[in-house]
Amino acid sequence: MPSDYFELLLTTLNLTPEEREMVIERRKTRCICDICPTYRLCAGEEGEERAFCTVGLSACIDTEDECLCSTCPLSREMGLRYSFYCTRGSENQQHIRDIIGIR
Ligand code: SF4
Ligand code: SF4
Repeated sequence: MPSDYFELLLTTLNLTPEEREMVIERRKTRCICDICPTYRLCAGEEGEERAFCTVGLSACIDTEDECLCSTCPLSREMGLRYSFYCTRGSENQQHIRDIIGIR
């Protein structure tokens, strides 16, 4: 299933902020960022900052090491194409940058 489908769904469903938050929280529980070498404790010892593919850039991670997103079950389910969401932005943001030719 194309990843854009999920973002489209979130947008077109007209989710309330609470519902959208619920979707994000569900994704966070399945996210494996906190075991990634790029993940930093500044992003939250309890892994508060996660699911960057959906929420976009981390507020503090600024160095890229390795990205485990391709091994994340959620990534496979959503058909994600990009990586390093914590430093490069969400799937949609990276996709839009690709379309308009900005890297
Ligand atoms: S694809 Fe990456 S950022 Fe998204 S939930 Fe999985 S590990 Fe987290
Ligand atoms: S988005 Fe990728 S690089 Fe960043 S912490 Fe998650 S798995 Fe690691």
